[in-house]
Amino acid sequence: MSSLQVIVIGAGAAGLMAAGQAALGGAKTLLLEKMERPARKLRITGKGRCNFTNTLPLAEFLDRFGAGKKFLRPAFARFFSSELIAFFETLNIPTVIERGGRVFPAENRAQDIVDALIRWAHKCGVKIQTQSPVKKIVIENGRIKGAELDLSASRGERFIPADAVILATGGASYPATGSTGDGYRMAQEAGHSIIPIRPALVPLETAGNVAERLAGLALRNVAARVFINGKKRLEAFGELEFTPSGVSGPIILAFSRRIVDALRMGEKVRISIDLKPALDEEKLKARLLRDMEKFGKQPFLSALKGLLPSALIPVCAAQTGIPLKKTSNQITPTEQKRLRDWLMDFSLDIINHRPFEEALITAGGVDTREVNPNTMSSRIVENLYFAGEILDIDGDTGGFNLQAAFSTGWLAGRSVCARPQPSSDCKGED
Ligand SMILES: Cc1cc2nc3c(=O)[nH]c(=O)nc-3n(C[C@H](O)[C@H](O)[C@H](O)COP(=O)(O)OP(=O)(O)OC[C@H]3O[C@@H](n4cnc5c(N)ncnc54)[C@H](O)[C@@H]3O)c2cc1C
Repeated sequence: MSSLQVIVIGAGAAGLMAAGQAALGGAKTLLLEKMERPARKLRITGKGRCNFTNTLPLAEFLDRFGAGKKFLRPAFARFFSSELIAFFETLNIPTVIERGGRVFPAENRAQDIVDALIRWAHKCGVKIQTQSPVKKIVIENGRIKGAELDLSASRGERFIPADAVILATGGASYPATGSTGDGYRMAQEAGHSIIPIRPALVPLETAGNVAERLAGLALRNVAARVFINGKKRLEAFGELEFTPSGVSGPIILAFSRRIVDALRMGEKVRISIDLKPALDEEKLKARLLRDMEKFGKQPFLSALKGLLPSALIPVCAAQTGIPLKKTSNQITPTEQKRLRDWLMDFSLDIINHRPFEEALITAGGVDTREVNPNTMSSRIVENLYFAGEILDIDGDTGGFNLQAAFSTGWLAGRSVCARPQPSSDCKGED
């Protein structure tokens, strides 16, 4: 009997895992990648260190997803962080757990993860064909027939027959890595609905020129609150940084999912930063009084140096209207109150988000209601499967998105052969 022919489209995290699993199941597996090398995005993850999963328990892990939380549960139940860590360890990639449960390869090189995955896929029998952009999934009578390559950009045959296709083309963020959103069009042509895509985990733009003046400044241990149409909606403690056009950093990326949607609905968004979150209003009042006394006849500027990073001092002076050349003992109680209020509520109006080019992931994508969460198979086209960021799933930073890509890839690859038992001696099996 001839073996099942499977085409996996997209050699990212999800596609490599799916292809390896399909090949382990006995399928003749062809992995088509449009770029000249596989896994360009995976190489740059975690600032080149690849934070590939997180050790949070399942319930908390799932809470770190906006869309897709319920959908992901069966995939995580089958192949989760401990299985992924064990998988890489069998590929001779020892791992380390860092702050917040983030897991990295111990050598801190994303490239090691990429190389190991490619070696593993080859060993499992996957044929990886690069510079092969797929243009179309060919379907006849609701069943997969194969895939059609864009011959203007690739070599070889235009039509490649297959019994099943796993679509793992990723999202639309960082398009220079190859993830240009082609899969959304292919899925739509196959009859699937696409939840509108938006940049997620993305820097934000602020009104005025404050960000430009502060570009490069990182604020650590601050508390930030998000007000949407005047109502407090989110708050977080941690780090943010200024970019030439606005703000970025961990707190901002975490806020961005909600803020992007609010901006798209025309809502007014303001971020309020408490620069001294360890001090309540009374303690801050006492601290300022003490400082103004201590610095007495010295300029107010000297007192501010102990309170703020130097880049923020001119912004503080401009926004509070307190002249820097005054001596500290000339600062009136009203000015002290204005300073106190500003320190507790340094406000930034958010006017836009940055584009897909700067977004770590894509929110939206293939509607998960049309995909079976237990197999990753299409409910519309027989023998079509999905894996990774092409699906309408989006998680926080911290290793959640890569785990989702690997888990859905694992499940799609296993389901395509519907094999109950692993059947090969390849390393990297669970
Ligand atoms: C800068 C950056 C840092 C990140 N860091 C982390 C991190 O540390 N931890 C984490 O969990 N997540 C991180 N992410 C998110 C994570 O990288 C993605 O969620 C994950 O790579 C998605 O995997 P995927 O396989 O679904 O898609 P991708 O990795 O995007 O792979 C899709 C592949 O499909 C190929 N392709 C697209 N269209 C076609 C076509 N028509 N024909 C053939 N091939 C095609 C693409 O070239 C690409 O190789 C980061 C993202 C970015 C941009």
